[in-house]
Amino acid sequence: MIAEYSKLSAMDIIKGLRDKSFSAVEICESALSLAESKGRELNAFITLTHDKAFAQAREIDRKIHHNEDIGPLGGVPIALKDNICYTDCPTTCASHILDKFIPPYDSTCATRLISAGGIIIGKTNMDEFAMGSSNENSYYGPVINPIGNNLVPGGSSGGSASAVAAGIVPIAFGSETGGSVRQPAAFCGIYGLKPSYGGISRYGLAAFASSMDQIGSFARNIKDLSLAYRIVCGRDENDSTSVAFAHPDYPDLLESERKFQIGIPREFFLEGLDKEAGKQIDNAIKLFQKDGHTIKEISLPNSPLAIAIYYIIAVAEASSNLARYDGVKYGLRIKDDDLINMYDKTRNLGFGSEVKRRIILGTYVLSAGYYDAYYFKAQQVRELLKRDFETVFKDVDMVLTPTSPTAAFKIGERIDDPLAMYLSDIYTAPANLAGIPAVSIPCGAVSDGRPVGLQLMAKAFDELSLFQIASRFAKLGE
Ligand code: GLN
Repeated sequence: MIAEYSKLSAMDIIKGLRDKSFSAVEICESALSLAESKGRELNAFITLTHDKAFAQAREIDRKIHHNEDIGPLGGVPIALKDNICYTDCPTTCASHILDKFIPPYDSTCATRLISAGGIIIGKTNMDEFAMGSSNENSYYGPVINPIGNNLVPGGSSGGSASAVAAGIVPIAFGSETGGSVRQPAAFCGIYGLKPSYGGISRYGLAAFASSMDQIGSFARNIKDLSLAYRIVCGRDENDSTSVAFAHPDYPDLLESERKFQIGIPREFFLEGLDKEAGKQIDNAIKLFQKDGHTIKEISLPNSPLAIAIYYIIAVAEASSNLARYDGVKYGLRIKDDDLINMYDKTRNLGFGSEVKRRIILGTYVLSAGYYDAYYFKAQQVRELLKRDFETVFKDVDMVLTPTSPTAAFKIGERIDDPLAMYLSDIYTAPANLAGIPAVSIPCGAVSDGRPVGLQLMAKAFDELSLFQIASRFAKLGE
């Protein structure tokens, strides 16, 4: 029974509940028991939320029994990354410094999911404060990629990606600052969306680098992915950077005969791209061409600078955002009679080494004398990169690249080499810097079976084109 439910998509669950093939409580039981068995093996969750989940599932069953509306996500089990606030259970950001922190309010993402009938079954493991590309920077230990072989699931939303890929939940939410949804989606062989900046409210998402942070989602098919976005997107009074825009019913509009103009940026196919992964991407390009889409070589001349800019802006904003964790307001406090010593001891013990590295780097690039040389310069180049995209989108509907230069690597392989780790974001960081939407979709595998991800980026708020082309691609591969 359990294994059978675990293969169901969100759409299957919604239909099965309406047809009374099973109950919401059965689905919830199945997801939670899989989270306890498989999820524990993978270390995918930090907290499971049994009580709230079952209460919600019982309420859905009651509504079904009385023929009441259960909402567009009614009865679907969902997981949330542990930096997205959900009341009555801890939100740790996988950091010791947030030990036992229970948020006093729900994130807008959680509020919208619950009011659509979604059932949040747990909070997923992640890189501490979303800093990392392998999920090895968690205070709660590394997450394992369900495809096996001791591979990383990617990061920083590795727990959410693992939970979806392992069939524990059909939909999970993560967060993106530089690729933390797309890269794990690629490594685990599933779909991942990073929406346009302002597409989803950040209210209740623990801040890392606020000018790039966005909540994103994972699913095993494009329809579920588009549904997940549809439910949580749109303006929210609690986040002044969220945008009011026309968001169509994406899941109903996936089938399209549109022929797209697809740009291939020459800068993304040079050295560093794994040969076998590159081959899968080339095959995909050929498939698109055969299907009648136009492929054009384009240039994003400033994109080779994206990693350098990203790792200046991200650390600068992080050093400022993380100043609030001082032992006074949240979580952990190491007592000392002297206030400065208390701050010092709490932060020293509470933060892991990657977070400390970034706070130190961020403080440096913002300090007097270096601000102009690093931070201000990075912001200028970021503007040039945005213009590169604006120019390109006059000519093409979307830009196609690999999601990551390699397929999933082994746990421990890059942990001592922060620069190699930072280079994992080389293809994903540009979309965060430019604020545009991007998806990662499964695109074959290298010869030992590790999945490859294909990235598509579009103009701000044109998520629809991304969903449509991804849906088309899934059909082409059938
Ligand atoms: N890997 C990137 C980093 O470590 C991206 C993280 C993210 O998107 N949250 O900063």
